This record gives sequence, C-alpha cells and structure tokens, in this order.
Amino acid sequence: MELSRELLTAEMIDPGTGEPARTTIEVRRDPLTGHSSRILPERGLMSASDFDLEAFAREVQPSCPFCPGRVDQLTPRLPASIYPGGRITRGEAVLFANLHAYSSHSSVSVYSARLHYLPLGQITRRLLTDNLATQVAFARAVMAADPPSRWASINANHMLPSGSSLFHPHMQGIVDSQPTTMQRLLAEVPAQRFDDYLDTERRLGERFLGNTGRFEWLVSFAPIAPAELRAFAAGISSPSELDDDLISELAHGLALALAAYAEMGFQSFNCAIYGAPPGTEGYPLNLRLACRSNLMAFYRSDSTFLERLHWEGAVDVPPEIVARRIGDRFRR
Ligand SMILES: [Zn+2]
Repeated sequence: MELSRELLTAEMIDPGTGEPARTTIEVRRDPLTGHSSRILPERGLMSASDFDLEAFAREVQPSCPFCPGRVDQLTPRLPASIYPGGRITRGEAVLFANLHAYSSHSSVSVYSARLHYLPLGQITRRLLTDNLATQVAFARAVMAADPPSRWASINANHMLPSGSSLFHPHMQGIVDSQPTTMQRLLAEVPAQRFDDYLDTERRLGERFLGNTGRFEWLVSFAPIAPAELRAFAAGISSPSELDDDLISELAHGLALALAAYAEMGFQSFNCAIYGAPPGTEGYPLNLRLACRSNLMAFYRSDSTFLERLHWEGAVDVPPEIVARRIGDRFRR
C-alpha cells in the first residue's frame, strides 16, 4: 500500500524582513477511511500547561455526583431488563446509566468513586482493566437483552477540553442499533485494506509502536487529532468479544500511551474503541486515542473549523515525532 501524501507550499511576505517566506504543508490521506489531514510546521499549538488541575479538582469536588457518598444516590441505574443490579462493578470501577443519553443504551463508568482527581500518569493498568471490564459487561448485557443493539463503542472524554461535562474521570459506553459515522465508515473498509495498512506501517517502522500481544499500536499516519494513536486487534470485532486477557492487554497498552501523553505535558484526551457488530468477518476491533488542549483559562481549543466542519485533521506535531517521543515503550 502506498500512503498518500502531497506537499503544498504557501508563500507570503514576511512582515519583519519584507522578504518572501515559504511554508510547507503536508496533506495526507487516511488509508482506511480516506479522510485527509494536514501536517503543519511546528508552532506550539498544543502548549503544555501550568494550570493547577489539583486545585480545580478540589474546587468542584463538593458537588461532584461521582464521588463517594453521592455516586449511589445521584447516578441513574440501568433498567432491570438490562442488568438486574442496576450498576456494574469491577474492582473500584462502577458503571451506571448516563443521565444524558446519546443512544438507546448509554453508560458512564468511573475508574473509582474515590479517584476524583486522576492525572494521566496515574491511570494504571489495574484501573483501566476494571473500568473496561464494566463496559464489556455492559455491552454484553445490552446485546443479550436488546439484540438489534449490535454496535458497541467504549469512549472517553477526559477533562473538560475533551468534551467532558464532569471533572471526575470516567469512560462512556454506547450500544446502539445505529452506528456512528466513523463506525459505519470503518465497518465498510475491506478486510484486506486493514491488513495492508498494518503490513505497510510494520514495514516502514517510523510510526509503528509495537505489539502488546494481540493489539498492534501505531501513530496515525493522517491524524484527526493531535498525537493520535491507533490500535488494532485481529479476530474480534466488538468490545463485547473482549475476554479477560484481552481486556488486561488493552488496558496495558492504554496505560503506556497515557503515561507517554503525561510525559509530553498533556492532561486531556479522547478515546474511541470502535466496535462493529460481533462476528463481523475481517473487521479488527480498533481504537483511536488522541490528546486535547490542556485546561487553562482562555485556552485555545484544538478543534477548529477544519476538524469540526471540514472533517479535516490539522496538527502541528508530526506523527513521526510523536512516535519518536513514545519510543520503545510498546516493545519492552
Ligand atoms: Zn468526583
């Protein structure tokens, strides 16, 4: 597979020197869905932050519905037809119905009621394993009770810039009869193209991060969002098909990636694990993980008219630099 890229040159007159100045922009096309992405010269769009997240956490904690003493009273339970206990727990993780539904079946799962403040570097494999396990159990319970709801995804808005309305760290599950746009586009990709893409990235090596067992991790060639990573697991197509070993392996990979983000100075991210219907032949369960702007007063959103209205990524951190900064953590 040839990875499609085209170099564009912009010319302007430098206001300081009065001389012509040129800028190079690289337009890349995603090999799976065809969306394009612009790799811009580095100009510090995703700045690190000295915002005191811990102080902000303390400020909003007194009214947090996910904290101990309130999570059992203030969060909605799942209907008994889906899950008789109303809440799904694994370790410290607790899953309940999303007060603001986005689909026939929407869930929220906190890593722990006691972890109101959870910086990215402290999201451990254990915490991720338990949280993912509640979401897998939720997907299975919904699919058993409501067979047309075959499209499951596990997602995260982490910190307010990512779209999270509540500070307390959590994941979100959607199980629905209707795929999202990206689930539909990915499910339409021929199986051979997934194989070609992974073979190509493995061979080129510059964005391929490694293999944690069944999951293969790489930096996106044509990212939608900054520092975007992808992972693929052949042989399963839905989160509902993740067994305990695969949940733990996936948690390991996510913990490695989030620790790398923390080291790069990022504290907000989005994640989407895109399920297709269980048993979809040739579809590898896959995910995107990406950084969002750091929380600070009057911060700049990383999502602009390009991402929101043109569906076009525009990042000033080249994927190959991201891969170098992540280094060999996935190969140990
Ligand atoms: Zn809280």
